[in-house]
Amino acid sequence: MNIHEYQGKEVLRKYGVAVPEGKVAFTADEAVKAAEALSSSVYVVKAQIHAGGRGKAGGVKIAKSKEEVKAYAEELLGKTLVTHQTGPDGQQIKRLLIEEGCDIKKEYYVGLVLDRATSRIVLMASEEGGTEIEEVAEKTPEKIVKEVIDPAVGLQSYQARKIAFTINIPKELVGQAVKFMMGLYKAFTEKDCSIAEINPLVVTGDGKVMALDAKLNFDSNALYRQKDILEYRDLDEEDPKEIEASKYDLSYISLDGNIGCMVNGAGLAMSTMDIIKHYGGEPANFLDVGGGATAEKVTEAFKIILSDQNVKGIFVNIFGGIMKCDVIAEGVVEATKQVGLTLPLVVRLEGTNVDLGKKILDDSGLNITSAESMADGAQKIVSLVK
Ligand code: ADP
Ligand code: MG
Repeated sequence: MNIHEYQGKEVLRKYGVAVPEGKVAFTADEAVKAAEALSSSVYVVKAQIHAGGRGKAGGVKIAKSKEEVKAYAEELLGKTLVTHQTGPDGQQIKRLLIEEGCDIKKEYYVGLVLDRATSRIVLMASEEGGTEIEEVAEKTPEKIVKEVIDPAVGLQSYQARKIAFTINIPKELVGQAVKFMMGLYKAFTEKDCSIAEINPLVVTGDGKVMALDAKLNFDSNALYRQKDILEYRDLDEEDPKEIEASKYDLSYISLDGNIGCMVNGAGLAMSTMDIIKHYGGEPANFLDVGGGATAEKVTEAFKIILSDQNVKGIFVNIFGGIMKCDVIAEGVVEATKQVGLTLPLVVRLEGTNVDLGKKILDDSGLNITSAESMADGAQKIVSLVK
């Protein structure tokens, strides 16, 4: 789960990680009030959306007076911001962070990620902060330094010190930088983060080390024990189809293609996406209805697929084991009764109660193309949507 920058900074503050003073605002008036509460005379008005690249896209404004804060707040609130991370549709700005302006001397990058190769948390840092770290990684990988953290002992201060020296934090500020990294690591582990990225970490004119930006992601499987983090969830930032799917415990991920997929089992769902691509199509979603889905759950899943305007055809690929083919068939028939179906539908059923499932579909009067195998089904749906 992703949270907003201002929320991430709230979390970090509790762990002694230095962040600028600031407050969230939902209206232009609140923005002015938030600015009045700050001790600085320069304010930064920052769009709060779940995506980076806001600076370059015009979502971070420096204001020199409260009048400017108001003007920028009015300009940004309600506007759709398109950054290189939002996709072409962008994301509407509904919240702002009003923050004290910092006198930036230099920008650095510090991040904690889980490295799957070593199964360990890795602390990464670079002297080249502010810019896209992906770009630094690609063009000048030697400018990114790493420390692998042993989970038995956690991040050691000598490791943080080594990083601070390597990225050339001014000597007199190394102590602050170490405290910063230690706090960041503590927040990461105690709060079950999957990513904690500070870009930029800055050294200011008055000799402070602080986080000017904060991107924290959390392991969704751990949210049951992170109730305070779960409260930060902002449904406005999530795909409504995915929210609907989560209500029914469906594993659904929206994608950019036009072939809707309904599959049981994550492995089969992935290979279904692969085979669609293999035959030249593009899946519109990943959907695993799970093992013991009921007809109601299948109905909801089918409705979610149909609610996607990009979907031009649907491929149902079921291998009935615990899941029975007749239950899937009932769900498909029920959903199409409720919402109608004008799109091509290819169904491949195999396994438990397959004959009964096929009969339910045949008797439904729906215009269904049946497939003999996965490859056959994928080819049929790809040619039907073309
Ligand atoms: P994003 O990563 O989405 O572009 P950032 O929070 O990193 O957003 O802000 C982009 C840039 O704006 C930063 O690299 C920094 O130069 C500037 N900036 C952000 N917050 C402040 C602040 N409080 N004071 C001064 N400059 C800031
Ligand atoms: Mg940033």
